[in-house]
Amino acid sequence: MSLIPPSDEQGLGQGYHSPQVDVDVRLNTNESPLPPPAAWVEELQAEVGRIPFHRYPDRDATELRAAIGDLHGVEPGQVFCANGSNEVLQTLLLTYGGPGRTAAVFEPTYALHGHICRLTRTAVAEGERNDDFTLDLVEVKRVLSEHRPAVTFLCSPNNPTGRVEPRDVVAHVLELAPGLVVVDEAYGQFAAWSALSLMGEGRPVVVVRTFSKTWSMAAARLGYLVGPAELVSELEKRALPYHLDAMKQAAGRLALRHRAEMDARVAALVEERGRLAAALGEMDVDTWPSEANFILFRPRRAGGDQVWRALLDRSVLIRNCSSWPRLDGCLRVTVGTPEENSAFLAALAQALA
Ligand code: PMP
Repeated sequence: MSLIPPSDEQGLGQGYHSPQVDVDVRLNTNESPLPPPAAWVEELQAEVGRIPFHRYPDRDATELRAAIGDLHGVEPGQVFCANGSNEVLQTLLLTYGGPGRTAAVFEPTYALHGHICRLTRTAVAEGERNDDFTLDLVEVKRVLSEHRPAVTFLCSPNNPTGRVEPRDVVAHVLELAPGLVVVDEAYGQFAAWSALSLMGEGRPVVVVRTFSKTWSMAAARLGYLVGPAELVSELEKRALPYHLDAMKQAAGRLALRHRAEMDARVAALVEERGRLAAALGEMDVDTWPSEANFILFRPRRAGGDQVWRALLDRSVLIRNCSSWPRLDGCLRVTVGTPEENSAFLAALAQALA
């Protein structure tokens, strides 16, 4: 028997990887540069001591969903939580995608949207963006009317370009889409507006968020979506029983008590993003406006791969997108601490020289 599963016929290739190398400055996976607040660690430790570990966790994640509901001013029943927003996306596609159905993506965008489509045997309809990576509404219209997708993915701010989709564009896509519109806002806190403001009961739109970035909890694997309660109950039927362990539920709930500190961190990162963008603007690179915690840029004369390696030689790791389709020669840097950003800029100046 062949151990190559039939799913590889769909071209999963090597899957999705970001190489991790031991370096001084790691700016390649868009995490928070800071660990969670010390008070959160203490509260979580105390809470873990109270968990009845011989029992299954609260299957409905009642308190966590109530806390997230409070954060966004929605009912707990409009919140679905999972092990990272990737699992939220997977559950969405298990529910609304699958054989015989299509999902639309607009490239370049977050690679996992297409990847999870292939895992769930959902056909992918790829639309192109404008050269400056903004959404082209004529192209959106074409893809939606030709393919009638059950799911339309938007990513705002978009990974890896950093661009936010304007409110009127998202509202327009919502009008055009024949099925569900999924707005992936993994970087939503860094942007000036959120599609959460377009939500309403009965409207076929969901907003997906994560604790991996702003909340400094990438290791905890927690993400969620806000959407119509009817949709959330459908997702719950497809999620595995007790998929959210008790520690994770406590970690997420307790994190939300530290909102003021996290908002201050977002503001500091946005300021550093401005400093990085201004510095890159003075260098021999092209950049695109970002409303996320990362910036995409392309060295004008040196090859992207060559610059990436020169940075690595200086112990600075960023994301090498230079061989990705439509991103020829591009690199993506995560906004880090002021010290990390300065180290990156110094290394880049040398690498470009
Ligand atoms: N969506 C986007 C756009 C992302 O960039 C990421 C992280 N790379 C995710 C979702 C997944 O985040 P997580 O599973 O850690 O919540």
